[in-house]
Formats: sequence, structure tokens, C-alpha cells
Amino acid sequence: MSVIYLDNNATTKVDPAVVEAIMPYLTDYYGNPSSMHTFGGQLGKAVRTAREQVAALLGADESEIVFTSCGTEGDNAAIRAALLAQPEKRHIITTQVEHPAVLNVCKQLETQGYTVTYLSVNRHGQLDLDELEAALTGNTALVTIMYANNETGTIFPIEEIGKRVKERGAIFHVDAVQAVGKIPLNMKTSTIDMLTMSGHKIHAPKGIGALYVRRGVRFRPLLIGGHQERGRRAGTENVPGIIGLGKAAELELQHLETAIKRETRLRDRLEQTLLAKIPDCEVNGDITQRLPNTTNIGFKYIEGEAILLSLNKYGICASSGSACTSGSLEPSHVLRAMGLPYTTLHGSIRFSLCRYTTEAQIDRVIEVMPEIVERLRALSPFKNDEAGWLQAQEQTLAHR
Ligand SMILES: *Cc1c(COP(=O)(O)O)cnc(C)c1O
Repeated sequence: MSVIYLDNNATTKVDPAVVEAIMPYLTDYYGNPSSMHTFGGQLGKAVRTAREQVAALLGADESEIVFTSCGTEGDNAAIRAALLAQPEKRHIITTQVEHPAVLNVCKQLETQGYTVTYLSVNRHGQLDLDELEAALTGNTALVTIMYANNETGTIFPIEEIGKRVKERGAIFHVDAVQAVGKIPLNMKTSTIDMLTMSGHKIHAPKGIGALYVRRGVRFRPLLIGGHQERGRRAGTENVPGIIGLGKAAELELQHLETAIKRETRLRDRLEQTLLAKIPDCEVNGDITQRLPNTTNIGFKYIEGEAILLSLNKYGICASSGSACTSGSLEPSHVLRAMGLPYTTLHGSIRFSLCRYTTEAQIDRVIEVMPEIVERLRALSPFKNDEAGWLQAQEQTLAHR
């Protein structure tokens, strides 16, 4: 049975052209780019090309790209750098729906004397910019807000946010791990000071990422040691990873326009057909401001985990909540922040597409989902009993 992979917001397949680009750097070209000899030194040129490719995808200058090990490192490094650059300021603004790579750093900073404002979202996962405005003070060092949500695909109005942030003189960091390669970005006309991206979300391997740092923004490295990355990230370069990220960035830029159209069409067909065929379900998130590849659908009265296990039998990979919190019974912090009712909160499934997704794969999901939901609902004792369902959920959570 072949796999139908609709979990691309968790990770992606490495593009074969990326594998091909990397191979020589795992075999023949194993030198250290910092070496004085030609054998190592020649790698500097390949790394430079990769840096240009990543910069091109972001509309940035190559000097503004710092290679990292992953999105998590980029988020950590940016937050640290922003705070170290303005030691007198002790306030951070973020949102309730960030990735744990931002949320958990902020939680730790709260134990170290920082005050953090976690902006709320409405039923559609959108922010209230008046709430942001009211939270911004002269003491605000950093505003760190994601470009697009990994669970719902909801896109935040980043430039409107940035304008307000810049008026108050705070540093603006954006976790764009889900936006890069999915929507057009241009740092030249942006208010963003630092932006995080990750390789394995854009068909490069795991273990490589990049942080965009606008020229002129004071930066302090998270990793301290050698002079690599112009002193912004010490450690011998992950040359194969960097080459792979460069190639992946080039491909994302090349495919961007067609991928947006194609994935939007496939995603909308999947979503609209499921909504039409299955009663008692709804889309979670802002459907007008959304990534082209993502749909998150809540199926009332059943458990998302049960749906995933059923889909798994057909080789279909999807997700409930984020991979980082799965394995726990806790409902997704993102859907919870949106104030979804309990009946929907537990039965929400994310399908995330990519440029490899085919019509036939979407057809297959459309074919099997209605019967899966119907079967699970038939087993659910709470099908038409929201109060009973709610009570059972509370008991489950209380007994964890
Ligand atoms: C995946 C993801 C990250 C973490 O990236 P890693 O490379 O896996 O560390 C951070 N933020 C968002 C929004 C993500 O989707």
C-alpha cells in the first residue's frame, strides 16, 4: 500500500533534486569551508551560492542569512538576541497560538524576570490589533509572532502588526516556518527584523534551517565559539544541509506560483467535498487568510485520534493538533485558544498538502472519510448528547 502523505506541516519529503545536490558533499567534498587549503576552501563558494538561494526566496540580502540547525534554534536565537541587545527592556509580546519553540522560551523567560503578554485570538484564530496596540509600551523589547499557524494555516497580518511594533521601537521577530515557500515573502519591503525558517518543512533534510537578520539589527549569537556565519552562529557549517537548503529554496521559488494555485484547488476540493458529504463538521481557522496547503476540520462527537488510526489503515497520514503535543490527551492549545466547543476540539483533523499531492490521493481521502466518521459516530455514545460528551471529556482529562 502506498502512503498518502497529507501531513506536510509536520515535515516533508526531501526533493530528489535536493538529495542529488547534497550527495557530493557527503562523499567527495568533505572539507571544512574555513580551511586555508583549496580542498576545504572551495566549499565556501558552494555555501555562498546556497546563501544566495535562500536569500532570493525571502527577498533578502545574502549577508542577512544565518544558517541554523532547525526552526527551533532560529526562534531561540532570535528571542535571545533581541533581549540581549536591549537589556534595559523587560517586556515581550507574543500570541497564545505560537509553536512551542516560541511559547516555551517565553514561559521560561517569565521565570527570569521578564513579563510576557500572550495575545488572544478569536473564534477564527485571528488577532485583535487593538489588543496588540494596548500591550505595546516603551518597555517592550520584542514582539514575536508567527506568520502562519502550523495547525490551522491562519495567516496573521504581519505587516500591519510590524508597523505598530516599529512605531514603538521594539524588535519584531516572525516565526515563518510555515509561511516560507507557501506564500510570497519580500524582506526588502517588510517591517520584519528577524525571521525564522526550517529546511524540513520545505523539502530539505531535517537538521538545517536559517534565520534572517535584517542588516543593522543588533545581534548576539546563541552559540558562541568560532567565527562562522560572521560571528552570528559558531560551529563548523553543516555543509550538506546548507547545500540542500539552498537547492530546496531555489525549487520553492521556482514552483511557488503554480504550487499556490494547485494546492489551493486540491485543498478546497477536499474541504468542500468533506463538508458536503459529512454532517456536523466545520473548518477551523480563518478561511480568508490561510495557507494554500492547509485545512483543519472539526468532526463533532468523535476523537481525532480515532480518525487518525482509521486513516492510517488506508495509508493516509494526517494530524490532530501538532506533532509536538500528540501523544498526550490534551487538546491542541491553538484550537483551545480559539475557544472551540469541546465537541469539536477533540475531533479536529489537519490535512496539509504539498506539491507532490495528487488528485487521486485527494479522491481517496474523499472516498474513505465519510464512512470512517459514520462508523466512529455510530460507536460514540454521545453522538446526540453534548452534555454527556463534555462530562466524559472532563473525566478523561481529570484522570490523566
Ligand atoms: C515545525 C515548526 C517549528 C520548528 O521547526 P524545527 O525545524 O522542527 O525545529 C517552529 N515553528 C513552526 C510554526 C513550525 O511549524
